[in-house]
Amino acid sequence: MKLMYCVHCQDIVRLFPEKRSCRCGKSWGHYLEDRSTTVQTWPSLSVGIANPDFVQAERAFADAPRAFSPEITMRCWINPVSEPDVTFVQGVPVEEVPVGGEPAPPSAE
Ligand SMILES: [Zn+2]
Repeated sequence: MKLMYCVHCQDIVRLFPEKRSCRCGKSWGHYLEDRSTTVQTWPSLSVGIANPDFVQAERAFADAPRAFSPEITMRCWINPVSEPDVTFVQGVPVEEVPVGGEPAPPSAE
C-alpha cells in the first residue's frame, strides 16, 4: 500500500481512489483506476509498505498482542521518483527555497 507524507505538516495519509489531503491541506493524492498507480503533489513523499509484511504483522499481533517479535515488523520505504507507478503533480512548494531557484517537480527520466 502507498502512503503520502506531507513535508509541510509531517502528516501521513493512506491513499485511496478518492483524493485525500493531509492535515494542513497543502498535499493530496489518490490511486488511479488501475489500483496501482498513484498521483500526488510534489513535494510530498510516496511511502510504500510491503503488503505481505503488513498482513503477517497484523496476524502476529492478533496472535500475541502483548509480544514484540520480528513477525510484527514490516518493510517500508520511500518510493524513488523514478518509480513508474508513482506520479507527481506540482503542489505547494516548501517555503525555504534553496539558493539557485525554485525546486521543480522531479522527472522520472
Ligand atoms: Zn500537510
